Amino acid sequence: MPDTFKAILVSRDEDKKQSVAVKDLTEADLMEGDVTVAVEATTVNYKDGLAITGKAPVIRRWPLVPGIDFAGTVTASDHPDWRRGDKVILNGWGVGETHYGAYAARARVKGDWLVPLPEGISAHDAMAVGTAGYTAMLCVMALERHGIAPDRGPVVVTGAAGGVGSVAVAILSKLGYHVVASTGREAEKAYLADLGAAEVIARDELTGPVKPLAKERWAGGVDAVGSTTLANVLSMTAYGGAVAACGLAGGMDLPSSVAPFILRGVSLLGIDSVMAPKEVRLEAWRRIATDLDVAKLKALSTTIGFDGILDAARAIVDGKIRGRVVVDME
Ligand code: NDP
Repeated sequence: MPDTFKAILVSRDEDKKQSVAVKDLTEADLMEGDVTVAVEATTVNYKDGLAITGKAPVIRRWPLVPGIDFAGTVTASDHPDWRRGDKVILNGWGVGETHYGAYAARARVKGDWLVPLPEGISAHDAMAVGTAGYTAMLCVMALERHGIAPDRGPVVVTGAAGGVGSVAVAILSKLGYHVVASTGREAEKAYLADLGAAEVIARDELTGPVKPLAKERWAGGVDAVGSTTLANVLSMTAYGGAVAACGLAGGMDLPSSVAPFILRGVSLLGIDSVMAPKEVRLEAWRRIATDLDVAKLKALSTTIGFDGILDAARAIVDGKIRGRVVVDME
């Protein structure tokens, strides 16, 4: 008898009604790929919440094992870059959307999708960062490429108490920026100050009617919220500044005007983590290893087991998760 392992499987019936169940799978049930990995840690990202609850069409292949990121150890490989025993990280590439994902003890993927676990970082810590944190680093790198630096002025982070936001606050403050953290959760003020936020502002300050141009408040920003929040952030960005947009927790629309772009030379930098090229991923993970304090990582993450994934997935789409959720699979 082949070894079985537990997996979360999302299915859909003939009426396209989605259901979620824990099933026993074997390696023969996994999808095609040239590397098999023993998943040691994974996480619950906002996108995983959308996939499991069915709130947005993240899953595009049925049935599917969700889970967009994992860290673990290679158990078998036909790929020239990877050998049994190698420690690896996977983020995105459609895993947990069109390819069986992280919520199983084993994953089979393309070796080209993997990056090595950086020296000195455990699988658990890599997943405390996870796709949300790696995306936060992509946002920081985009701002830097645009010339944003601590001496240019404050930077704003929206959805600050969430996963992307918490990691962005921790990285930007370590790099010396004056970080303005925007949150809808008054109770998380002390948490955000501990991560390094110099100021914490209420989410409401960025959800009112959008003026074409408002008082200049920051040189740049990391936005995980979208919609009116991003439009207000843009209108409040100083001359020549830039905002990295990566999320839609507040909505997918953008009720903005061209005024910030054509009158203040503000730039909107689009960030996608899923299909980011390998060199960019390697650079992001190298920077994470140097520019993010492990102590802060511990402060911003909570750990659950496999059995807690479904509850955490529901909680994250309700905006109830603080920071990052790590799933230890063992
Ligand atoms: P979280 O749920 O952890 O964080 C989102 C935060 O946004 C919440 O904690 C909350 O912060 C704020 N928020 C939630 N709902 C609203 C609302 N209606 N209006 C205003 N603010 C709101 O999610 P993640 O950090 O995992 O992901 C954040 C976003 O980034 C998601 O949209 C996700 O899909 C996207 N993302 C995109 C990636 C990419 O490649 N572009 C990769 C990873 C994530 P607070 O309570 O502090 O206000």
